[in-house]
Amino acid sequence: MLDVEAVRRDFPILGRTVRNGRRLVYLDNAATSQKPRVVIEALKHYYEHYNANVHRGVHTLAEEATEAYEGARAKVARFINAPDSRSVIFVRNTTEALNLVAYAYARRELKPGDEILLSIMEHHSNLVPWQLVARETGAELKFLDITEDHRLDLSQLDRLLTRRTRIVALTLMSNVLGTINPIKAVARAAHDVGAVMVVDAAQAAPHMPIDVQDLGADFLAFSGHKMCGPTGIGALFGKLELLERMGPFLGGGSMIRDVHLTYSEWNDVPWKFEAGTPNIGDAVAFGVAIDYLEGLGMENVRRHEKELLAYALQRIAEIEGLEVYGPKDPEVQGGIISFNYLGVHPHDVGTVLDSEGVAIRAGHHCAKPLMRRLGVVATARASFYIYNTKAEVDAFIQALARVREIFSHVP
Ligand code: PLP
Repeated sequence: MLDVEAVRRDFPILGRTVRNGRRLVYLDNAATSQKPRVVIEALKHYYEHYNANVHRGVHTLAEEATEAYEGARAKVARFINAPDSRSVIFVRNTTEALNLVAYAYARRELKPGDEILLSIMEHHSNLVPWQLVARETGAELKFLDITEDHRLDLSQLDRLLTRRTRIVALTLMSNVLGTINPIKAVARAAHDVGAVMVVDAAQAAPHMPIDVQDLGADFLAFSGHKMCGPTGIGALFGKLELLERMGPFLGGGSMIRDVHLTYSEWNDVPWKFEAGTPNIGDAVAFGVAIDYLEGLGMENVRRHEKELLAYALQRIAEIEGLEVYGPKDPEVQGGIISFNYLGVHPHDVGTVLDSEGVAIRAGHHCAKPLMRRLGVVATARASFYIYNTKAEVDAFIQALARVREIFSHVP
């Protein structure tokens, strides 16, 4: 079990007040998480004590920085049960990780007639890079739909997955619906037709245990900032044999073994994909965020959010005139609730909630095709994390009642 009060004490920002002197109730965790003191301190410690460039120095600071940077890579690898830390590439975020796969793998491997299978619930980060690949290579995009209760519609899988499918790229958890997708089963089916399984774990990695080997992921992408780490650092897992076969993503320093005037030889994996000076301080602090989450236990994190979601779903059902999206089942849903007050724009909902101290998100959540599929232009979204409490869910529900009062003239 999580000791939530102890967790809350680790996050300095949770003590602040926002508009109208209200105590902050932060329910925008799907956008980015808050940072525990240990992570903030790790950044400061790095810059105060061993800031140096990695890999090419012979002095003490460079050695310490290199050890900490490569140590962070080993922590990321352990966190997702990667068999080898060389399978982990540091990138800026999930978006860059998915683009790396699209550019360095898909653009070179795919040809006209090949197919890429996605779903309609993908974040733009796991859609636009594949549109670019399709345009460049002549490959065709195919899409899995969602069911009435907002799960992935697997009834179409056999029809959509063919011998021409080269890539299946799906989110493990939807950032709008909270739906947790059965990636393991899809990966098995993808491998049966010889396709590569790309997993967008931006929403899943912060909230549940991840095992790339058990999932059958060939590539898996996630961002540090959604899981207690700093912005500007994320990771791409790739199977070693694929990474070794791939050409580089960006060219420049660090990614080379030798350079001649007209050609170069590439460095080993993973450095072949890390051109230029990497984001050393943030990578080190990302490693500390992973230590912090592992200290809590990812099973405990998931259990806590399941409980919060069950409670929030039960309370939100009491409110009239509210449409709630997603499976509404904590067994297959992360701590995300998207909803709309009929007749009230989600931005207005967000603004009223903010005046009550409750931070949520309103908009298309970078999932415009999903918005169209749901028949809306936007939704309001509350999303939970390790430091949220049932009392905060109550504050959220109370703030929603305030929306109803203010917009009582709306039929
Ligand atoms: N994929 C999903 C499911 C997301 O929720 C997000 C961010 O919200 C991303 C990808 C992109 O993450 P980033 O902006 O950190 O690259």
